[in-house]
Amino acid sequence: MSAYLFDPPAVVAVPIDGQAETFPVRRILCVGRNYAAHRREMGGDDRDPPFFFAKPADAIVACPPAGGASQSEGGRIADSVPVGKDVAYPPKTTNLHHEIELVVALKVGGSDIAVEAALDVVFGYAVGVDMTRRDLQNAAKDKGQPWDSAKGFDASAPISAIRPWTGPAPQGRIALSVNGQARQDASVADMIWNVAEIVSEASKLWTLAAGDLIYTGTPEGVGPLVRGDLVEGEVEGVGSLRFTVV
Ligand code: MN
Repeated sequence: MSAYLFDPPAVVAVPIDGQAETFPVRRILCVGRNYAAHRREMGGDDRDPPFFFAKPADAIVACPPAGGASQSEGGRIADSVPVGKDVAYPPKTTNLHHEIELVVALKVGGSDIAVEAALDVVFGYAVGVDMTRRDLQNAAKDKGQPWDSAKGFDASAPISAIRPWTGPAPQGRIALSVNGQARQDASVADMIWNVAEIVSEASKLWTLAAGDLIYTGTPEGVGPLVRGDLVEGEVEGVGSLRFTVV
């Protein structure tokens, strides 16, 4: 009989709307430059297609919904999932940015998934924020270095509860406010790669599996956060989240 040298890491799990069961996270893929107006504000070339990067699963912070007090605030959802209404300002940056994103949660895996079959592997959708150390990202771009420290840091993936979903992917409004002031306000329908195309493209690069989350890119209006900011985000029909930067 073999044993681990130390206790293996805890499973990261995200609450599911209306269910006691939670969604165990395997890994997090993210799409870069998937909205034309955001690609322009980042100085990108209009001909460049979207691309992928990743965050570790334990970057997840499960957040309560936006608006008034929720029964889950400050406590736990289900037995083991902490609710993170606070997100710590990370070290080694002076330019932490918010990026509101639709998140796809997979219930089935596979490789080389056809676009026509891609929505069949989707369990549901959530609202996420791709927290970004923009200063480190810009430095990495200048030097041709990887983005891990700019994108994959601790608590860099706040997320709402996952809403189970069948049929066509969400197409509605995607928006983020800081201290009640609108910062990002766009439509999921404006994505360059739609959800089915994202899943299909990802499955050509990796063997996908149940538990994978895909952050699908952010629209224009990204900007800096400071300690004390209240961040609220929503995707029409999917849900909302809120957290405070501390
Ligand atoms: Mn992003």
